[in-house]
Amino acid sequence: MSSQKQIIEDFKKRFGVSVVAAKDRLEIDVAYLQADEEKTTAYIETFLSKELSLYSTKVFKKCNLRKIILCKNLVSSGEKRAGLAEPKWIFSGLLGNNILINVDAPLDSYARSVIHHELYHLIDDSDDINGMYDNHWKNLNHPKFTYHDDLFANQIPKIANGFVSSYAMTAVHEDKAETFSHMIVDYKGIEKLGKTDAVLRRKIERMKVLMNKFSSEFDESFWKERAKASNHLHIY
Ligand SMILES: [Zn+2]
Repeated sequence: MSSQKQIIEDFKKRFGVSVVAAKDRLEIDVAYLQADEEKTTAYIETFLSKELSLYSTKVFKKCNLRKIILCKNLVSSGEKRAGLAEPKWIFSGLLGNNILINVDAPLDSYARSVIHHELYHLIDDSDDINGMYDNHWKNLNHPKFTYHDDLFANQIPKIANGFVSSYAMTAVHEDKAETFSHMIVDYKGIEKLGKTDAVLRRKIERMKVLMNKFSSEFDESFWKERAKASNHLHIY
């Protein structure tokens, strides 16, 4: 097997994105520890590369993805996280955006969805900060539904119609990222749910429109490929 240094260099050449095996970082808002070298290397070589190869490198450029930071025991705002997007907002063109990923987890369908979820946050933020306040998306919901962050409640009830996970019910930008990542990993699964769930069906259609606006590579044939490669993703 090649050395970690070589794998990181190859990754940068292939995707135009740096991958970093992070050292410990202990700050109030974000904290993590350095992951084992063996785990990090395997993650880059066999897992991350495969997921990113679903997109052209134009996608990463357009959302200013600069660095993917690999770590373990990732915590943000006091909560354990599988991944985290760190957009630099108005400075993103200059500084580049980062994604943080906890690699110390089973490499399953959920771990795949984490990569696409975090990438979507950067895509969502790349045109404006509409992702946070997307009223068009909010209006796809049942008229009585309110995202939990808007309610300042911390009790998340069971998954309602229109949502792929309880986390999607916390905020509009999380809902969009969850819908997108389910479409990437388990297109058939989400499409099946959409057959009996009109809200979710509208969200799938809206996501296709948004992604096609972001880049023309997200066309019907892209989604057909995703349907063919669907992996079952548990509803969590
Ligand atoms: Zn998120």
